[in-house]
Amino acid sequence: MNFKSSLLASVVGLVFAAPTLAAPKNIIYMIGDGMGPAYTTGYRYFKDDPSTKVVDPTIFDSILVGMAHTYPDDDTVVTDSAAGATALSTGTKSYNGAIAVDTHKEDLETMLEVAKKKGKTTALVATSQINHATPASFASHNESRRNYDEIANDYIDNKIAGKLPVDLMLGGGTKYFIREDRNLVSEFKEAGYQYVDELAKLDTLNKIPAMGLFAEVGLPYAIDEEPKRLTKMTKTALSLLENQNDKGFFLMIEGSQIDWCGHANDIACAMREMDDFAESIMLAKAFVDDNPDTILVITADHSTGGLTLGANGQYRWERDVVAKVKGSGDEIAKALSESKDVKATWETLTGLDYDSATELKVKEALGLGSKALSLVVKDAISDASFTGWTTGGHTAIDVQVFAHGKGKEAFIGSQNNTAIADKLIGFIKQ
Ligand SMILES: [Zn+2]
Repeated sequence: MNFKSSLLASVVGLVFAAPTLAAPKNIIYMIGDGMGPAYTTGYRYFKDDPSTKVVDPTIFDSILVGMAHTYPDDDTVVTDSAAGATALSTGTKSYNGAIAVDTHKEDLETMLEVAKKKGKTTALVATSQINHATPASFASHNESRRNYDEIANDYIDNKIAGKLPVDLMLGGGTKYFIREDRNLVSEFKEAGYQYVDELAKLDTLNKIPAMGLFAEVGLPYAIDEEPKRLTKMTKTALSLLENQNDKGFFLMIEGSQIDWCGHANDIACAMREMDDFAESIMLAKAFVDDNPDTILVITADHSTGGLTLGANGQYRWERDVVAKVKGSGDEIAKALSESKDVKATWETLTGLDYDSATELKVKEALGLGSKALSLVVKDAISDASFTGWTTGGHTAIDVQVFAHGKGKEAFIGSQNNTAIADKLIGFIKQ
């Protein structure tokens, strides 16, 4: 066999081998919202030990298997998180804004629903509100991601084979679950769910079903308060799910706010979110190693901000600048506006010099309000680190696919995002 035909045979072999792979019992699906390839590359430099010459690989490098195409079924190739998550959860592309409905606004069955029908335990973990677009597209159906109350209602009203769809939910969103017209938290408690509303009490959850809502909307950024809140929630979820059900579980974990930092064009914020997500992945990977009848699949719904490493004609990207920043742009702006010594606050929180050009910009922005001030902070950090951004929205570039454990071979190569869902649903149905 010459090289060409052996290559062809191996490609064909892959295509035909995938459906016959034995299905793993447990599925851990992790989505880095907005986590395009520049984020994982930036994270590698960000985490690197600067005292050695070699840039060390990260957890992402150890499990990379392929790429995914993210375009929606819309009049654009740039997806939003709702269409992205719908493709990743149902295997069908839809329009931007769609929550597990097709372009005719008809409900699409999600992999979480298939898992529930098959008798598996189901779980959603996010640092956004738990009814935000990505988790929502696994357990609810709505023509618009903005219908937050209706989506939250679905988590208790959308019965799967007579049962509630999600056995474990950890994230934010009390604003949508405790309302004047309806108190869903009380309804969940009546349905037998344990409930906590403080991250510090996460460990008191000792059985499933359970729910933890730790913020009115999304949790605070990793860089601003609890740097490892996703890691903590992941740890609790995995320990509650381990050996809980003979039929296994489906767990979706979202690194929700990588995207939010990307929209804000805030590199220091994004790298701290990456750190929390990466540590959560380490826990999931260790779980797979201890429980080999498990697959871990990780991808992103799209990239955000058009992030790149290098800007303004310079052949540089300065991770040290990013590493010194001690808050999100918004929190640093808040501290500056409340400070009696703006120079000292600037230098402490940004790690940058307070030179006369900076002073001029900060003084002008102080009169314009917190948004203008936050922009000055983030621009200074981006300029000093040579971080580039093309947009405050999303971009259409391919995202990476990572896999570890039983059946990971199915995810090798360049694939549509819907193919990831199709393969996982295939495993769940086996
Ligand atoms: Zn976004």
